[in-house]
Amino acid sequence: MSTHANTKMLSEADGYDLLRKFNVPAPVFEIVTSPEAAAKAAGKIGYPVVMKIVSPQIIHKSDAGGVIVNIKTDEEAKAAYNKIVTSVKAYNSAAEIKGIIVEEMAKPGLELIIGGKIDPAFGRVITFGLGGTLVEFFKDVGIRILPCSDDELRSLIKQIRGYTLIAGYRGEAPKDEEFLFQTLKNACAFFEKNDNVTEFDINPLRLYEKGGCAVDARVIIQDEPVELPPHYDASKIVPIDYYKPRSVAVIGASDDKTKMGYAVFHNLLQFPGKVYPVNNKREEIQGVKCYPNLSAIPGPVDMVVITVPAQLVPGIMEECGQKGVKMAVVITAGFKEMDEDGRALENRMVEIAKNYGIRIVGPNCLGLILPPYKLDTTYVSTSPLPGDLAFISQSGAIVNAVVGISLSEGSEMGYSEVVSVGNQSDLDFLDYMSYAQRDPHTKAIILYVEEIKNGVAFMEMAKEITKTKPIVAIKAGSSKRGQAAAASHTGSLSGAYEVYMEAFRKCGVTPVKTLPGAFKVAKILSDADRTPKGRRAVVITNAGGFAVLSNDYAETWGIDIVDLPKEIIDEMNTFLPPFWNKNNPIDLLGDADEERFRNVFEVLCRNPKLWDMAILVNFPNKVLSPVQVANVLIDYSKKTDNLLVGTLVGGDCMKSGVTLLTEHNIPVFEELEFTYRTLGHLSWTADR
Ligand code: ADP
Ligand code: MG
Repeated sequence: MSTHANTKMLSEADGYDLLRKFNVPAPVFEIVTSPEAAAKAAGKIGYPVVMKIVSPQIIHKSDAGGVIVNIKTDEEAKAAYNKIVTSVKAYNSAAEIKGIIVEEMAKPGLELIIGGKIDPAFGRVITFGLGGTLVEFFKDVGIRILPCSDDELRSLIKQIRGYTLIAGYRGEAPKDEEFLFQTLKNACAFFEKNDNVTEFDINPLRLYEKGGCAVDARVIIQDEPVELPPHYDASKIVPIDYYKPRSVAVIGASDDKTKMGYAVFHNLLQFPGKVYPVNNKREEIQGVKCYPNLSAIPGPVDMVVITVPAQLVPGIMEECGQKGVKMAVVITAGFKEMDEDGRALENRMVEIAKNYGIRIVGPNCLGLILPPYKLDTTYVSTSPLPGDLAFISQSGAIVNAVVGISLSEGSEMGYSEVVSVGNQSDLDFLDYMSYAQRDPHTKAIILYVEEIKNGVAFMEMAKEITKTKPIVAIKAGSSKRGQAAAASHTGSLSGAYEVYMEAFRKCGVTPVKTLPGAFKVAKILSDADRTPKGRRAVVITNAGGFAVLSNDYAETWGIDIVDLPKEIIDEMNTFLPPFWNKNNPIDLLGDADEERFRNVFEVLCRNPKLWDMAILVNFPNKVLSPVQVANVLIDYSKKTDNLLVGTLVGGDCMKSGVTLLTEHNIPVFEELEFTYRTLGHLSWTADR
């Protein structure tokens, strides 16, 4: 969105006229400027009518006493005129009263909202949900990022809680869902074809058993076309050989263990290519010959790591250009994240780099680690192990934590790429994702995101990547604190977080809430041969307590523990002890042996359409060993395409089963809440 453009709100009447052009039905109306004219217009339209204030300063007309409905006579119309003017003046004495709109009174119906806004990163976003004057109270809306398909619009309608009211609540006749779908589609077309509309809402749209009608329209336009975020541009992506330097120099390398330049150079010592310390005060650093500046280095330098103070960086970038450096990792902070001077420094650095074709990681970052190539440009205390996960983070601290966790006892986490993106002055999320996409070591990508600037390009790229490699993302900032108040309903109803979640859904990225969740989900998505097709679960356990907890956790994380049909219960009755609970979760009781579990799985695998995932929950027990439990899952995994998962709670004595399942790529957990949390995350893309 251009920051220079002037915006203004169209009158309700102009909004109606514009919407009608896109086949969104609106009431017949007339604008009047006297009580007598109001009565005359009302007579012409036909009683009853609704009268409302027309004023550019009054955004929420009801709040200002600017709406009177159900006006039945000329006398009432005249009185309503005066009453509205008086109330509005009392509400806001500065409000310019352009007149009163007299309109046809629409019959009662289900009040819905359709709105639109421009998200700075993701472009046009459409909102739909329960509307009317209680819209902020219901907060029952869903969103779609445009352009979107018919299927996405149809699923948007079904996604809100209030869908029950559309489908026909408690014996009421269903509302016209097809009309609603068409109107949503028309509203999208209206938004996309009017390139100066920055925001709009139709609230309410009244929906009937047949048809419907907009009875309010708020449209905000600007005096120039809206600037939308750019598309993905493959030509801007860094060639892969930039990440494969033959030699690396550290500017600001140090022998002083308290300095960043010490740790960075230390971590680089394991690099099999050439490494050069640069420091004009030393002959030698950490046992390696030191150079006073870049140009003094005899051979070529492909990559530099910069740790010296910010004000020196533009000058060094110039030297890098002279030396033919391809990539600069700028760890130094004190750029645009700090103040205006810092921003100017950053711009200068980027400008110089651009002139020479140098690409920049950072600044204000931890750096880049490519463990398979033993390249670690960061000051983390120990380099992470090589493996198949790419971890791309907007927080340097989280990178430190993740590396620490990966090196802890019992962790099997290894990385193909670890990067802290910093200020993203040049290389950004897209570049690091593109590296992971092209890198043969990477099987899955984890993102820690605070803000993505080029959301449209991100979606386009992520959609491509997720065809072959899963992307899992933690998006920070879901809390409502500090979110700016917005002028329209649409603005306040769909915050940035919701837009991210919708963007992730649209491009196949799996959102998670926690770091352990991210690792688990990434591992399952890349290793398991299947994912859940939906949210319907069957739980099979020998522990009554875990059966009860399962219901609680499942509800929290959006897993449906389905009721089993009578035929299934009847069949299970033939082999289960008479006092089993005859319900899902299926509690096989503490004395359940392997045979009992197998019999249940036998029935389930013969009826795969009834469920999407089966969760076997087990605890240490003399009747049944963890290895037996694991074997049940391994055997029946071959007899169904549905997802089978194990949860073996009990610590070390369950490890044999956990290991066996892990070896067979069957998802296994050691803690029950984590099972449901992970499954909830995994089901995200399956059901929408
Ligand atoms: P606001 O600026 O407060 O959103 P609205 O134009 O939406 O004002 O009017 C408030 C409420 O009055 C609507 O939510 C709707 O229930 C009712 N209303 C408004 N216009 C009409 C109409 N033409 N026919 C029937 N009801 C209406
Ligand atoms: Mg309204």
